[in-house]
Amino acid sequence: MAKLLFPDDSIREFPPGTAVVDIVEEALPRFKKRAVAARLGEKLVDLAAQLPESEEAIPFEIITLDSPEGTDVLRHTAAHIMAQAVKRLWPEARIAIGPTIENGFYYDFDLPEAFTPEELEKIEAEMKKIIAENLPLQREELASEEAISLFKQLNEPYKIELIEDLDSPVVSVYRQGEFVDLCRGPHLPATGMVKAFKLQSVAGAYWRGDSNKPMLQRIYGTAFPKQSQLDEHLKMLEEAAKRDHRKLGQQLDLFSIHEEGPGFPFFHPKGMVLKNQLIEFWREEHRKAGYQEIQTPMILSEELWHKSGHWDHYKENMYFTKIDDHDFAIKPMNCPGGILMYKRQLHSYRDLPIRMGELGLVHRHELSGTLHGLMRVRAFTQDDAHIFMLPEQIEEEIAAVVRLVDKFYRLFGFSYHVELSTRPEKALGSEEIWDKATRTLEATLQKLGQDYKVNEGDGAFYGPKIDFHLKDSIGRTWQCGTIQLDFMLPERFDLTYIGADGAKHRPVMIHRVIYGSIERFIAILTEHYAGAFPLWLAPVQVVVLPLGESQNAYAQEVKKQLEDSGLRVEVDARDEKLGYRIREAQLQKIPYMIILGPKEEEGKTLSVRSRKDGDLGTMDLEALTARLTEEVLTKRN
Ligand code: ZN
Repeated sequence: MAKLLFPDDSIREFPPGTAVVDIVEEALPRFKKRAVAARLGEKLVDLAAQLPESEEAIPFEIITLDSPEGTDVLRHTAAHIMAQAVKRLWPEARIAIGPTIENGFYYDFDLPEAFTPEELEKIEAEMKKIIAENLPLQREELASEEAISLFKQLNEPYKIELIEDLDSPVVSVYRQGEFVDLCRGPHLPATGMVKAFKLQSVAGAYWRGDSNKPMLQRIYGTAFPKQSQLDEHLKMLEEAAKRDHRKLGQQLDLFSIHEEGPGFPFFHPKGMVLKNQLIEFWREEHRKAGYQEIQTPMILSEELWHKSGHWDHYKENMYFTKIDDHDFAIKPMNCPGGILMYKRQLHSYRDLPIRMGELGLVHRHELSGTLHGLMRVRAFTQDDAHIFMLPEQIEEEIAAVVRLVDKFYRLFGFSYHVELSTRPEKALGSEEIWDKATRTLEATLQKLGQDYKVNEGDGAFYGPKIDFHLKDSIGRTWQCGTIQLDFMLPERFDLTYIGADGAKHRPVMIHRVIYGSIERFIAILTEHYAGAFPLWLAPVQVVVLPLGESQNAYAQEVKKQLEDSGLRVEVDARDEKLGYRIREAQLQKIPYMIILGPKEEEGKTLSVRSRKDGDLGTMDLEALTARLTEEVLTKRN
């Protein structure tokens, strides 16, 4: 018998060899139209898959097209259809790999020339033909040698290399019409089920990401269950392109990255205003939350990084240097520095918790192909803090950090969700310690009534963590804040405190960030606000536009007075038409414009325009100052 455990906990028996599609037909007719695959135990299988003999009930669940897994199956099939289309149009093309990625899929092809946009359209048209042909996708399991000889015949050397690396006696291939591909599956039962897809772009990509290997052509595409979902996604991407922080960063003169420092951003005066505002707010809130601020060195002896475990678990991402013939490392994290700071003196249980904040400039090596504006850099400022505490203080401290994070994200109008990441493959410490730490984090989140999702195996190497994923104004999510619980480093560095019993005990540590990387947070904010920062963050808050030369002196006077109230003001007295200067100020997304003509000069009044509320009419300086200082103080969006 083949026994299945259904999601409603019922157990049902079927003759072995029954196909999934027959189970749907017989037992789950409501899924008939939407089923694309099934979960059988741990594995995803095709609808055509047959049940194995089993005495134990195997958990069984239908995967529908509209679920995340179902959409993934759809995209994977779309990738095969794209490869088939390319092979029909360019039989000499060699196919490499074609996985799904977040929001889409890609496929890598070996062809001497890059695809042009017109050629992408041609491929799309061919894909539509393949979809109209409604070809069934058929799985076959072949002995490894058989599969190798199949792909030798087809002259697909990349597939042969993949099979050789798999080192498995049996591999699976999928056929659709004349096309065959090495693939684990599962797939849609037929190509006709792909209803809404789009090819998006082409980029060069080295085979296996190795610059010593051939450069391939990677075509990116996406597919959705419904056309309306695809349209919505493409619209969001268009909006995201308009908001691209690299473009806005240049337009608003915030930052630049130079050939001389790939991944090492330069902050311009206006970008520094933004950065410093974020830092000032951070300092104020952390002072209120009982943190002290420290600064630890950027370069520390290599030995320290051996001891901390970074050498074993993180050295590929670190930069090293030599001083007086001794080996040093540039810090990729602030923790070991914070720990040395803790260790410099004895601590009593009465001193704990100690909350040490550090705006630490860290350096991490990232591959040059992954660098992206301020989103992915090689040097960035972490708004880090380490909390050293008694074991019984863990819950309270974590809850306090969660509340602090909430306060920050709310201020910018972000909603967010929380994920809990557990023990990764490469990890320090015993399973028991990990279990205990993970349970504590879960208990705290539950107590706070905070929903969370579990990410198995995604924790840091020294402990489990809570991640905050914030959602921006166009619906994208970004992982920013993390709280990591650490029992390991206190052990490795032999950290102690003197307990009430007079004996030495081991403190527990929390590592946490809220912005994450301030540089990346600025990129996220720039795209979230489309460059129209709220008044408290805006690099220039007010621009004064004198109508003619005779109003210049009055303009300077207004500027001076507003500056005395702590506002950031510019005068644009260029010899340009007013309309032109207004448009410039709008492009610069300056929150307030003051226009001064003879009438305003005479009556000592101001004509004011707000970016948000439009024309505010005539105001006097006192009323405007009151309005602006209140808006800055409340940090209104
Ligand atoms: Zn740390």
